[in-house]
Amino acid sequence: NNSGETMLIELRIDKEKIINNIEKIREINNNIICVLKDDAYGLGIENVLPVVLSQNIDKVAVAFMDEALKVKKIISKYDRLKTSIITLNYVEKEMLQTALNENIEITIYSLSQLNEYINYVKQEICKIKIHIKLNTGMNRLGFDFTDIEELIRIITNNTLQIESIFSHISNSENEEYTKKQLEKFREIIKKTELYGIKHEFTHISASPALFKYSGEYNFDYSRVGMALYGLEPLSSDVGLDKCITLESKIINIRKVSKGEYISYGEKNRLKEDTVVGIIPMGYAQGIQMQIENTEAYVLVNGEKADIIGEVCMDMMMINITNIENV
Ligand SMILES: *Cc1c(COP(=O)(O)O)cnc(C)c1O
Repeated sequence: NNSGETMLIELRIDKEKIINNIEKIREINNNIICVLKDDAYGLGIENVLPVVLSQNIDKVAVAFMDEALKVKKIISKYDRLKTSIITLNYVEKEMLQTALNENIEITIYSLSQLNEYINYVKQEICKIKIHIKLNTGMNRLGFDFTDIEELIRIITNNTLQIESIFSHISNSENEEYTKKQLEKFREIIKKTELYGIKHEFTHISASPALFKYSGEYNFDYSRVGMALYGLEPLSSDVGLDKCITLESKIINIRKVSKGEYISYGEKNRLKEDTVVGIIPMGYAQGIQMQIENTEAYVLVNGEKADIIGEVCMDMMMINITNIENV
């Protein structure tokens, strides 16, 4: 919202911080695919994509086709039609014609998916740029080593256009397991090359692997999502700028005596007299109920105020006993 009105709940995105983060990411790998899936991690593709385009990013990834089409509209408006748009999730076969018409690149991750597409639109699938996803240990999407010969046979018979070969790291903090994933990745790539399968580029790192490893772990591109937004990719601080602030107001203050319960249920009994602030945000606004009785807090006048009691549908309670001038 740019109208200057004050709002009861405001999510602010600091675009300069996204730009700083892109610069930090590019010090590790200059070639990045910006991941804008699931509405740019909830921040709005329309908000984040123009910032990304201003930094001369030439590849973006989304989850689904509807998001890809949204990206397409925005890049047309910015005269950046050369930007590659990649879907990482499943595309229904009925949408393949649209993918071809709109020049949207898709991920192929299993033999059954590939056969489904070929049976449905043989002519089209040969013209769509595809990204081959390999399973190296995540066990979610991706071809296994045992699928590769059949995959190579299908690629050769149908002259498919392989834009990239990639995989996804499942636990970057585990160096041993990550190394195994990497070795598997290299092994499969080598095999496809041996059979004369051409690809333009390779990629395996998302934000965590990018910040934990670099050098030979980088490959041609890295796919980065959370690091763009300054969400911590590792358990240690890697020096990114948090670009997101969620701000609201305290709409009620009350004094509650020691021994009384707070919020629904009789789960949270106050151990001392407490000044409670009420904020007009709950799970309907995305504040997860699971934060109950964790160390979750909000900042009030710059000081930590614990979230106490069960998060309600559009309200939550905080402890402001020790904060002044509320
Ligand atoms: C979400 C996702 C990414 C981005 O991951 P971050 O950890 O947010 O950088 C990269 N690759 C794939 C396949 C993903 O699903």
